[in-house]
Amino acid sequence: MATPELDILAIAAHRDDVEQTCGGTLLKMAEQGKRTGILDLTRGEMGTRGSAEDRAAEAAAAARILQVSWREALDIPDGRVENTWENRLKVARVIRQTRPRVVILPYWKGRHPDHYTASKLGYEACFLAGLAKLDVDRALSTQQSAFSQIASAVASVVAGERQEPSAAKAASTRTHRGTTEEPALSLSKGAPGAAYGEFSGGAGETAAPHRPFKIIYATLYYDIRPSFVVDITDQFEARFESLMAYKTQFSDQEAGKDIFPARDEIRARIESMARFYGMLAGVTYGEPFLQKEVGLVEDVTAIPVKSI
Ligand SMILES: [Zn+2]
Repeated sequence: MATPELDILAIAAHRDDVEQTCGGTLLKMAEQGKRTGILDLTRGEMGTRGSAEDRAAEAAAAARILQVSWREALDIPDGRVENTWENRLKVARVIRQTRPRVVILPYWKGRHPDHYTASKLGYEACFLAGLAKLDVDRALSTQQSAFSQIASAVASVVAGERQEPSAAKAASTRTHRGTTEEPALSLSKGAPGAAYGEFSGGAGETAAPHRPFKIIYATLYYDIRPSFVVDITDQFEARFESLMAYKTQFSDQEAGKDIFPARDEIRARIESMARFYGMLAGVTYGEPFLQKEVGLVEDVTAIPVKSI
Protein backbone atom coordinates (compact mmCIF):
# COMPACT_ATOMS: atom_id res chain seq x y z
CA MET A 1 0.00 0.00 0.00
CA ALA A 2 1.27 3.43 -0.89
CA THR A 3 1.98 6.01 1.77
CA PRO A 4 -1.31 7.74 2.47
CA GLU A 5 -1.48 11.35 1.42
CA LEU A 6 -3.33 13.41 3.95
CA ASP A 7 -5.47 16.50 3.59
CA ILE A 8 -4.79 17.54 7.19
CA LEU A 9 -1.99 16.60 9.57
CA ALA A 10 -2.17 17.62 13.23
CA ILE A 11 1.20 17.69 14.98
CA ALA A 12 1.36 17.74 18.78
CA ALA A 13 3.88 17.19 21.54
CA HIS A 14 2.03 14.53 23.49
CA ARG A 15 -0.49 11.81 22.97
CA ASP A 16 -3.87 13.23 24.04
CA ASP A 17 -2.95 16.83 23.10
CA VAL A 18 -4.85 16.71 19.81
CA GLU A 19 -7.88 15.26 21.57
CA GLN A 20 -7.99 18.38 23.72
CA THR A 21 -7.34 20.99 21.06
CA CYS A 22 -8.51 20.05 17.57
CA GLY A 23 -10.01 16.54 17.78
CA GLY A 24 -13.49 17.80 16.93
CA THR A 25 -12.18 19.54 13.83
CA LEU A 26 -10.31 16.42 12.68
CA LEU A 27 -13.47 14.35 13.09
CA LYS A 28 -15.57 16.93 11.27
CA MET A 29 -13.13 16.94 8.36
CA ALA A 30 -13.06 13.13 8.26
CA GLU A 31 -16.86 13.10 8.16
CA GLN A 32 -16.62 15.36 5.12
CA GLY A 33 -14.38 12.82 3.40
CA LYS A 34 -11.02 14.43 4.13
CA ARG A 35 -8.03 12.29 5.05
CA THR A 36 -6.71 13.32 8.43
CA GLY A 37 -3.67 12.28 10.45
CA ILE A 38 -1.97 12.86 13.78
CA LEU A 39 1.75 12.98 14.49
CA ASP A 40 2.61 12.84 18.18
CA LEU A 41 6.21 13.89 18.75
CA THR A 42 6.64 11.83 21.94
CA ARG A 43 5.38 8.53 23.29
CA GLY A 44 4.55 9.47 26.84
CA GLU A 45 7.21 7.38 28.55
CA MET A 46 7.73 10.01 31.28
CA GLY A 47 4.14 10.06 32.41
CA THR A 48 3.55 8.96 35.97
CA ARG A 49 0.54 6.92 34.93
CA GLY A 50 0.72 4.11 32.41
CA SER A 51 3.53 2.95 30.16
CA ALA A 52 4.35 4.13 26.64
CA GLU A 53 2.68 0.91 25.41
CA ASP A 54 -0.51 1.77 27.31
CA ARG A 55 -0.47 5.23 25.77
CA ALA A 56 0.02 3.75 22.31
CA ALA A 57 -3.04 1.53 22.67
CA GLU A 58 -5.06 4.45 24.02
CA ALA A 59 -3.87 6.73 21.21
CA ALA A 60 -4.97 4.14 18.66
CA ALA A 61 -8.39 3.88 20.32
CA ALA A 62 -8.75 7.67 20.31
CA ALA A 63 -7.69 7.78 16.65
CA ARG A 64 -10.46 5.34 15.74
CA ILE A 65 -13.03 7.52 17.50
CA LEU A 66 -11.78 10.58 15.62
CA GLN A 67 -11.75 8.58 12.34
CA VAL A 68 -8.21 9.63 11.49
CA SER A 69 -6.58 7.78 8.60
CA TRP A 70 -3.10 7.74 10.07
CA ARG A 71 -1.42 8.22 13.41
CA GLU A 72 2.18 7.83 14.47
CA ALA A 73 4.48 8.82 17.31
CA LEU A 74 8.09 9.86 16.86
CA ASP A 75 10.79 8.89 19.34
CA ILE A 76 11.54 12.37 20.68
CA PRO A 77 12.00 12.15 24.48
CA ASP A 78 8.89 13.01 26.45
CA GLY A 79 9.37 16.23 28.41
CA ARG A 80 12.35 17.16 26.26
CA VAL A 81 10.93 18.31 22.97
CA GLU A 82 13.74 20.42 21.55
CA ASN A 83 13.88 22.35 18.32
CA THR A 84 17.02 20.67 17.03
CA TRP A 85 18.15 20.07 13.46
CA GLU A 86 17.62 16.33 13.91
CA ASN A 87 14.08 16.74 15.25
CA ARG A 88 13.19 19.17 12.45
CA LEU A 89 14.41 16.61 9.94
CA LYS A 90 12.34 13.86 11.56
CA VAL A 91 9.17 15.93 11.33
CA ALA A 92 10.02 17.15 7.81
CA ARG A 93 10.36 13.53 6.74
CA VAL A 94 6.83 12.78 7.92
CA ILE A 95 5.49 15.90 6.17
CA ARG A 96 7.05 14.77 2.90
CA GLN A 97 5.63 11.29 3.29
CA THR A 98 2.10 12.32 4.25
CA ARG A 99 1.97 15.50 2.08
CA PRO A 100 -0.78 17.38 3.92
CA ARG A 101 -2.35 20.52 2.49
CA VAL A 102 -3.06 21.78 6.00
CA VAL A 103 -0.91 21.33 9.10
CA ILE A 104 -2.31 22.02 12.54
CA LEU A 105 0.33 22.99 15.12
CA PRO A 106 0.07 23.88 18.80
CA TYR A 107 -0.23 27.60 19.51
CA TRP A 108 3.20 29.26 19.80
CA LYS A 109 2.72 30.31 23.41
CA GLY A 110 1.86 28.05 26.31
CA ARG A 111 2.64 26.90 29.81
CA HIS A 112 4.31 23.62 28.87
CA PRO A 113 7.67 24.05 27.07
CA ASP A 114 6.99 20.95 24.95
CA HIS A 115 3.90 22.65 23.50
CA TYR A 116 5.40 25.95 22.40
CA THR A 117 8.59 24.23 21.29
CA ALA A 118 6.53 21.81 19.19
CA SER A 119 4.92 24.84 17.56
CA LYS A 120 8.20 26.31 16.36
CA LEU A 121 9.69 22.92 15.57
CA GLY A 122 6.64 22.07 13.46
CA TYR A 123 6.73 25.36 11.58
CA GLU A 124 10.42 25.06 10.75
CA ALA A 125 9.93 21.43 9.72
CA CYS A 126 7.20 22.55 7.29
CA PHE A 127 9.69 24.99 5.80
CA LEU A 128 12.47 22.39 5.55
CA ALA A 129 10.14 19.84 3.96
CA GLY A 130 9.71 22.14 0.99
CA LEU A 131 13.40 22.66 0.26
CA ALA A 132 14.03 20.95 -3.06
CA LYS A 133 17.74 20.41 -2.48
CA LEU A 134 17.43 18.99 1.02
CA ASP A 135 17.84 15.21 1.15
CA VAL A 136 16.17 14.55 4.49
CA ASP A 137 17.22 10.90 4.79
CA ARG A 138 20.84 11.68 4.02
CA ALA A 139 20.84 14.62 6.43
CA LEU A 140 19.35 12.45 9.17
CA SER A 141 21.94 9.73 8.59
CA THR A 142 24.76 12.25 8.69
CA GLN A 143 23.37 13.81 11.82
CA GLN A 144 22.92 10.51 13.61
CA SER A 145 26.31 9.25 12.44
CA ALA A 146 27.97 12.39 13.80
CA PHE A 147 26.17 11.86 17.07
CA SER A 148 27.35 8.24 17.21
CA GLN A 149 30.94 9.32 16.63
CA ILE A 150 30.76 11.90 19.38
CA ALA A 151 29.11 9.41 21.71
CA SER A 152 31.78 6.78 21.05
CA ALA A 153 34.54 9.35 21.47
CA VAL A 154 33.07 10.41 24.80
CA ALA A 155 32.74 6.78 25.81
CA SER A 156 36.41 6.21 24.98
CA VAL A 157 37.47 9.15 27.10
CA VAL A 158 35.30 8.00 29.96
CA ALA A 159 36.74 4.50 29.71
CA GLY A 160 40.27 5.95 29.74
CA GLU A 161 41.07 4.41 26.42
CA ARG A 162 43.77 5.80 24.18
CA GLN A 163 43.01 5.16 20.57
CA GLU A 164 45.48 5.56 17.75
CA PRO A 165 44.17 7.87 15.01
CA SER A 166 43.88 4.99 12.51
CA ALA A 167 41.92 2.85 14.96
CA ALA A 168 39.60 5.74 15.75
CA LYS A 169 38.98 6.31 12.07
CA ALA A 170 38.17 2.66 11.48
CA ALA A 171 35.78 2.68 14.42
CA SER A 172 33.97 5.77 13.14
CA THR A 173 33.67 4.27 9.67
CA ARG A 174 32.01 1.20 11.15
CA THR A 175 29.66 3.43 13.11
CA HIS A 176 28.73 5.42 10.03
CA ARG A 177 28.04 2.34 7.94
CA GLY A 178 25.98 0.83 10.69
CA THR A 179 23.90 3.94 11.07
CA THR A 180 23.11 4.40 7.41
CA GLU A 181 21.83 0.84 7.20
CA GLU A 182 19.57 1.35 10.18
CA PRO A 183 16.13 2.86 9.80
CA ALA A 184 16.49 6.57 10.46
CA LEU A 185 13.14 6.71 12.17
CA SER A 186 10.93 4.37 14.14
CA LEU A 187 8.16 4.56 11.61
CA SER A 188 7.77 0.91 10.79
CA LYS A 189 4.39 -0.65 11.33
CA GLY A 190 5.94 -3.24 13.60
CA ALA A 191 7.41 -0.74 16.05
CA PRO A 192 5.81 -1.21 19.44
CA GLY A 193 2.82 1.00 19.72
CA ALA A 194 4.04 3.38 17.06
CA ALA A 195 1.69 2.84 14.21
CA TYR A 196 -1.98 3.27 13.63
CA GLY A 197 -3.62 2.85 10.28
CA GLU A 198 -1.90 2.06 7.04
CA PHE A 199 1.49 3.51 6.54
CA SER A 200 4.32 2.10 4.51
CA GLY A 201 6.60 5.09 4.57
CA GLY A 202 9.38 3.36 6.43
CA ALA A 203 13.09 3.92 6.18
CA GLY A 204 14.57 3.86 2.73
CA GLU A 205 11.58 5.41 1.01
CA THR A 206 12.45 8.88 -0.14
CA ALA A 207 9.62 11.33 -0.58
CA ALA A 208 9.67 14.39 -2.80
CA PRO A 209 9.80 17.87 -1.28
CA HIS A 210 6.45 19.11 -0.03
CA ARG A 211 5.38 22.24 1.77
CA PRO A 212 1.91 22.48 3.32
CA PHE A 213 -0.25 25.23 1.84
CA LYS A 214 -1.62 26.28 5.20
CA ILE A 215 -0.49 26.19 8.81
CA ILE A 216 -3.03 26.88 11.52
CA TYR A 217 -2.56 26.83 15.28
CA ALA A 218 -4.77 25.09 17.80
CA THR A 219 -5.01 26.32 21.36
CA LEU A 220 -6.82 25.56 24.55
CA TYR A 221 -6.40 26.90 28.06
CA TYR A 222 -4.58 29.97 26.81
CA ASP A 223 -6.05 33.41 27.00
CA ILE A 224 -5.91 34.39 23.37
CA ARG A 225 -8.54 35.55 20.91
CA PRO A 226 -8.76 33.06 18.04
CA SER A 227 -8.63 34.01 14.36
CA PHE A 228 -11.56 31.69 13.72
CA VAL A 229 -13.58 28.95 15.35
CA VAL A 230 -14.67 25.61 13.92
CA ASP A 231 -18.19 24.56 14.82
CA ILE A 232 -17.83 21.15 16.50
CA THR A 233 -21.35 20.97 17.94
CA ASP A 234 -21.99 17.64 16.19
CA GLN A 235 -18.54 16.27 17.06
CA PHE A 236 -18.27 17.35 20.68
CA GLU A 237 -19.42 14.09 22.28
CA ALA A 238 -17.09 11.96 20.18
CA ARG A 239 -14.20 14.29 20.88
CA PHE A 240 -14.84 13.96 24.61
CA GLU A 241 -14.91 10.16 24.27
CA SER A 242 -11.60 10.26 22.39
CA LEU A 243 -10.05 11.99 25.39
CA MET A 244 -11.61 9.49 27.76
CA ALA A 245 -9.94 6.73 25.73
CA TYR A 246 -6.77 7.67 27.65
CA LYS A 247 -7.82 5.65 30.65
CA THR A 248 -4.42 5.55 32.33
CA GLN A 249 -4.29 9.34 32.36
CA PHE A 250 -7.29 9.57 34.59
CA SER A 251 -6.86 6.40 36.59
CA ASP A 252 -5.62 7.95 39.83
CA GLN A 253 -8.62 10.25 39.82
CA GLU A 254 -10.81 7.27 39.16
CA ALA A 255 -9.49 5.30 42.10
CA GLY A 256 -12.04 3.34 44.09
CA LYS A 257 -15.69 3.82 43.47
CA ASP A 258 -15.58 7.58 42.85
CA ILE A 259 -15.03 7.25 39.14
CA PHE A 260 -17.68 9.67 38.04
CA PRO A 261 -16.66 12.93 39.77
CA ALA A 262 -13.31 12.93 37.95
CA ARG A 263 -14.97 12.33 34.62
CA ASP A 264 -17.62 14.94 35.40
CA GLU A 265 -15.00 17.48 36.38
CA ILE A 266 -13.02 16.92 33.18
CA ARG A 267 -16.17 17.10 31.14
CA ALA A 268 -17.22 20.34 32.82
CA ARG A 269 -13.90 21.93 31.96
CA ILE A 270 -13.84 20.68 28.37
CA GLU A 271 -17.47 21.67 27.89
CA SER A 272 -16.95 25.16 29.32
CA MET A 273 -14.12 25.88 26.94
CA ALA A 274 -15.96 24.49 23.93
CA ARG A 275 -19.07 26.44 24.92
CA PHE A 276 -17.09 29.64 25.31
CA TYR A 277 -15.47 29.42 21.89
CA GLY A 278 -18.75 28.27 20.38
CA MET A 279 -20.47 31.31 21.87
CA LEU A 280 -17.93 33.63 20.22
CA ALA A 281 -19.03 32.25 16.86
CA GLY A 282 -22.73 31.84 17.57
CA VAL A 283 -22.74 28.04 17.77
CA THR A 284 -23.00 25.61 20.69
CA TYR A 285 -19.50 24.11 20.74
CA GLY A 286 -16.42 25.44 19.01
CA GLU A 287 -12.68 24.82 18.67
CA PRO A 288 -10.45 27.90 18.42
CA PHE A 289 -7.65 28.38 15.90
CA LEU A 290 -5.19 31.07 14.96
CA GLN A 291 -3.61 31.85 11.65
CA LYS A 292 -0.81 34.30 11.04
CA GLU A 293 -2.12 35.39 7.64
CA VAL A 294 -5.07 37.68 7.06
CA GLY A 295 -8.35 36.23 5.82
CA LEU A 296 -9.40 36.64 2.18
CA VAL A 297 -13.05 37.19 1.23
CA GLU A 298 -14.76 37.02 -2.18
CA ASP A 299 -18.30 37.86 -1.04
CA VAL A 300 -18.86 40.06 1.99
CA THR A 301 -22.52 39.02 2.13
CA ALA A 302 -21.45 35.45 2.89
CA ILE A 303 -19.16 36.09 5.87
CA PRO A 304 -20.39 33.94 8.77
CA VAL A 305 -20.89 34.97 12.43
CA LYS A 306 -23.51 37.60 13.22
CA SER A 307 -22.37 41.05 14.34
CA ILE A 308 -25.39 42.05 16.44
ZN1 LIG B 1 0.63 18.09 26.03
